[in-house]
Amino acid sequence: MITREALVETLERTALLLELKGENAFKIRAYRHGAEAVASHAGDIMARARANDLEGIPGLGEALRQKVYELATTGKLEFYEKLRAEFPETLFELFEISGLGPKKIAVLYNELGVGNLVELKAACESGAVAELSGFGVKTAQKILDGLAYREHNAGVFRMDQVAGSVELILGWLRSQEGVTRAEVCGSFRRGREVVRDLDFVVVTKHGPSLLADLASQEFVTTVLARGETKASFRLASGCQCDVRAVREAEFATALNYFTGSKEHNVALRARALKRGWSLNEYRLEGCPEPLHEEADLYRALGLDFIAPELREDRGEIEAAAAGQLPRLVELAQLRGAFHNHTTASDGTATLEEMAAAARELGLEYLGIADHSKSSFQARGLDESRLLAQVAAIAALNEEFAAQAATDGPFRLLAGSEVDILKDGSLDFSDEIMGQLDYVVASVHTAFSLSEVEMTKRLIRAVENPMVTMLGHLTGRLLLKREPYAVDIPAVIEACAATGTIIEINANPWRLDMDWRWWAMAREKGVRTSINPDAHSTEDLGFLWHGVRIARKGWLTKSDVINTLPLDKVQALLRDLRAPRS
Ligand SMILES: [Zn+2]
Ligand SMILES: [Zn+2]
Repeated sequence: MITREALVETLERTALLLELKGENAFKIRAYRHGAEAVASHAGDIMARARANDLEGIPGLGEALRQKVYELATTGKLEFYEKLRAEFPETLFELFEISGLGPKKIAVLYNELGVGNLVELKAACESGAVAELSGFGVKTAQKILDGLAYREHNAGVFRMDQVAGSVELILGWLRSQEGVTRAEVCGSFRRGREVVRDLDFVVVTKHGPSLLADLASQEFVTTVLARGETKASFRLASGCQCDVRAVREAEFATALNYFTGSKEHNVALRARALKRGWSLNEYRLEGCPEPLHEEADLYRALGLDFIAPELREDRGEIEAAAAGQLPRLVELAQLRGAFHNHTTASDGTATLEEMAAAARELGLEYLGIADHSKSSFQARGLDESRLLAQVAAIAALNEEFAAQAATDGPFRLLAGSEVDILKDGSLDFSDEIMGQLDYVVASVHTAFSLSEVEMTKRLIRAVENPMVTMLGHLTGRLLLKREPYAVDIPAVIEACAATGTIIEINANPWRLDMDWRWWAMAREKGVRTSINPDAHSTEDLGFLWHGVRIARKGWLTKSDVINTLPLDKVQALLRDLRAPRS
């Protein structure tokens, strides 16, 4: 059976190859939207695809539905296989390098015959790349930096790259006879932004036969080791998985041990020793109580239950001992979402479609923040298009108000993701921004400023009273692009002084501001908004990643403004605009 990730990847690769061939833009976009639609569909889209029941899923037209059905049932797509045969397989590696898109790759391939990373490196070092038109010495150096960065991150995966595999493996384990419990553990369970491998613990009476069956599954590409209680294997993505079979009585300690972090475990073992007990992966030796759940283990050690996201040895054990752990924010507490794009800029869904998808998720409000005019590549809106959108939102809100008695309350909020220009000024005048409900200010250009200049730039933007929140603070793209140089504590300080919100950009490529900074921000009274930065209806699902990062940052409901009900959030947005004394 083909995994959701493999299916999505085939669609994405088809789009890339079509682009390399210079094919029709609509066709390319159809594949890209199809890939997105499959990747982030909330239900069991693979089952629907196998049953050829894909109608009504936004982003999947008739032709794409056929392709998805073919992939789901045969594991292959003939159209893609033919296309692929025209290019070297290794060409795809080039897309993983920051700054290289299909257009540049087409030039590299056609002019220099560059078909893999080794050839790319050689062509950069020989000076051939710098001489290509549209490239230059700077671009060649950037590519070399990108190559070095990729080498450094080999074998590391973003959350979204492995989430589907986790779901698939857990589903398989739980459906096997004799299995009573199965959980993912490791850094995935702790909500880390990237993982190196996946760990599972399963309770079964038939460990050896379960592991033998597991090793023969199609999602297993290579079996690395298999014994009576443990199997290690690799997935098609290259990600390593370890599955451990344990007995019921061992489950709580095994789940805890393999969830980590190592530092957290060390601290727990020290606590056990103080009680004259010894804690290992399978039991708490000496403890008279039976341990059914992890909470029992923590209780035995005199601790409140510590959520997996907090287990990084950053003070959670002391807080748990003192009964002072924060009550972490939960996905179900989110009432709305800011920072979302529509077809007006680079999104794939209309205002109406975004609103409908938000209501479907049970949200009470949805903030629209399309790009501003300087982001011309993303079809950023100029003043007149922006004001037309504000009017369209007002008209829709009248409709929503009229339906409120039957459908419940819902409102669109009119905002903009306004570019922070190189000098820290904003892409729109205060007069224009004053007509919006809120403003997300983000950097999309001139990433290579010095740290001093970049910090000044961000602080100047933050100090504009029209700016409600700061978008993706460091511009990082996980495993692809390093954050730009910026003094984060200084920016946090400025946000604290001005009451500016710092977003948690929940796109799994970004997860920015990084969770490690939130303790400091929270202490200074800075609040966040968990922002999906959705470019499609499906992307609203990114909120799940954002909540995990907020939890890792020890954030509670009151730290997150989009947990507020609509009237309160509107009042807050107005307050943030009020002149400061
Ligand atoms: Zn942005
Ligand atoms: Zn955005």
